[in-house]
Amino acid sequence: MIITPEQVLTALSHVEDPDLKRDLVSLNMIKNLKIDGPHVSFTLELTTPACPMKDMLTNACTNAIKHLVNNQAQVSIEVTSRVTRPLDSSQLKDIKNIVLVSSGKGGVGKSTVSSNLAVALAATGAKVGLIDADIYGPSIPTMFGVTGIKPGATETTGGKALITPVEKYGIKLLSLGFFADPDQPVPWRGPMASNAVKQLFSEADWGQLDYLVVDLPPGTGDIHITIAQSFPIAGAVIVTTPQQVALADTRKGLGMFMMQGINIPVLGVIENMSYFTPAELPENKYYLFGKDGGKTLAESFRVPFLGEIPILQSVSEAGDQGKPIALNNEDLLAKTFSVIAGKVAQQVAINNAQKVNS
Ligand code: ADP
Repeated sequence: MIITPEQVLTALSHVEDPDLKRDLVSLNMIKNLKIDGPHVSFTLELTTPACPMKDMLTNACTNAIKHLVNNQAQVSIEVTSRVTRPLDSSQLKDIKNIVLVSSGKGGVGKSTVSSNLAVALAATGAKVGLIDADIYGPSIPTMFGVTGIKPGATETTGGKALITPVEKYGIKLLSLGFFADPDQPVPWRGPMASNAVKQLFSEADWGQLDYLVVDLPPGTGDIHITIAQSFPIAGAVIVTTPQQVALADTRKGLGMFMMQGINIPVLGVIENMSYFTPAELPENKYYLFGKDGGKTLAESFRVPFLGEIPILQSVSEAGDQGKPIALNNEDLLAKTFSVIAGKVAQQVAINNAQKVNS
């Protein structure tokens, strides 16, 4: 039996990535193709770690080779991943994707979602950083149990000093909270705040990152505009609660990202505090603040709905104890956050592929 690389690649060019809407060969996902008699082996390089469609894609590849080349072929596929990046990469070239986490108003769980999203992305094997840019109440140091730490500095080869992010649970962290006096009640203001936030991006030694998650201040303001106009952004995730008042503010936030001059892709809406489930009645869901508000909002803006997170005492306790709940694999919410993180990574990959296409 003679199988040629051309035959295999032609067969694989009939397999399409359902998210990216292009075939695996033109997406350059087939690597290290080796053929030895009936044995065909290659690496399938996906664009998201822990891709939900991994098994479906490997089965489709095997079927294509068996049907279109030779049904005696013995196919073995190794799956790896290489996170893609938006095209504009002149700045912050070691950071592949900046993902903003935003909310219309405070207190909806934006910082809780940012921390758990960072943890869940890191659990897929991605290199992750987290910036706390919340000028009103930086809470990431508390949520990661690193309050009171003062980041050090790293000297570059050019002799420039860069801030060294604090590392916890495998995630690199920087917060405005590290640079403020905890007893100082005045929040960062105006240009000083925008400059301080910019420095957290460009004057820090982040190293190579697949995702840099950014916990923004609530609402729409200078910080949002500064970040949007200073750095290439992969997309924004919007956190809301189901109440009508929260949804009204979330609408404004969504509108801002879509404005001309800002134009940041919205990766999707996450609804937090969706329902309450008493521990003794785990099957019961009580929709205290109304049902499906986040989903309806996502539909009206034609952006993905990424998932709902229940109100649970364990979530706030974990935050207060400095161990985001997503670290606890025994907890059902770790699974919820892992699914949400998978969808965020998927949307980032889709947007990046569309930029390459356009
Ligand atoms: P924001 O960043 O939007 O101001 P936080 O993430 O700081 O909001 O959350 C506000 C408070 O609500 C915190 O005490 C947090 O622990 C709690 N909280 C957030 N999400 C949940 C949840 N799903 N279940 C229970 N408590 C939550």
